[in-house]
Amino acid sequence: MGKSSKDKRDIYYRLAKEEGWRARSAFKLLQIAENFNIFEGVTKAVDLCAAPGSWSQVLAKKLREKQPDGDIKIIAVDLQAMAPLPGVIELQGDITNVSTAEAIICHLEGEHADLVVCDGAPDVTGLHDMDEYIQAQLLLAALNITTHILKKGGKFVAKVFRGRDIDLLYSQLRLLFPRVTVTKPRSSRNSSIEAFVVCQDYDPPEGFQPSMTNPLMKNTTCDWSKLVGINKEIVPFLACGDLSGFDSDMTYPLPCFSQADQDGNYNCLLPVQGPIDPPYEEAIALARAGNKTAE
Ligand code: SAM
Repeated sequence: MGKSSKDKRDIYYRLAKEEGWRARSAFKLLQIAENFNIFEGVTKAVDLCAAPGSWSQVLAKKLREKQPDGDIKIIAVDLQAMAPLPGVIELQGDITNVSTAEAIICHLEGEHADLVVCDGAPDVTGLHDMDEYIQAQLLLAALNITTHILKKGGKFVAKVFRGRDIDLLYSQLRLLFPRVTVTKPRSSRNSSIEAFVVCQDYDPPEGFQPSMTNPLMKNTTCDWSKLVGINKEIVPFLACGDLSGFDSDMTYPLPCFSQADQDGNYNCLLPVQGPIDPPYEEAIALARAGNKTAE
């Protein structure tokens, strides 16, 4: 493939190089900002899953343009090391680890962020359920960190995969943010299931207690009886993507679990309720009587 063929195919890839952004994703944040004015009044921002750093570049440029005299602080976090960016504090770590969350909180030095963004994406496997599940876990981790560091009234912007449980996710986000919008910037390819949630006016319910050890109560071994008030109602936060059940596309060997008798043989059970008057009954009767041309 020629060096310039990707330039030809992807206008944003080309533009990113021309304008000095480290990745074409810069345009996604720029376009979201244009529509939702998310940088207004922002001096403290956290960029989760930031490498190679184009969103942090956008933050550094736009926040300084908007508040030239502001005390700007930008914290960027990623699993991967990032080349340094002027005016950005860089942390290397996994956002699903408590220690990474604690490092971010520590760098904020008791202050709250006005904006948290997360463009996190796992290495896509091509197995949609698996990819959606990992993406949901990343979002959950990002959101949990956000509940610890975002100021009341603050904003949260994050990448989501529009899978089958996405409506549930939107309503759950609305428990924490009165304004939740999903957007697909023009620079995000149509062929990709990614979209972005723009959550505004952070307003956790009265009595909500963020927990670092049990993020939004995802730990199912949690003692539910100890939860009180709104913390009981808010759970379980992300119900989507549970991989523990049977996969309807898989074939399982017989006997399977409780279907085995004492000797380990498969015991085929009748349907709980067979059809009462199926239209194929007559055809079956005729076929049994040897008349295969049931008409
Ligand atoms: N917004 C970035 C930019 O503009 O340069 C691009 C982000 S890239 C699409 C997704 C990033 O998510 C990758 O750099 C990856 O290392 C990071 N990531 C995935 N899982 C992560 C995790 N558990 N903790 C931290 N970063 C993670």
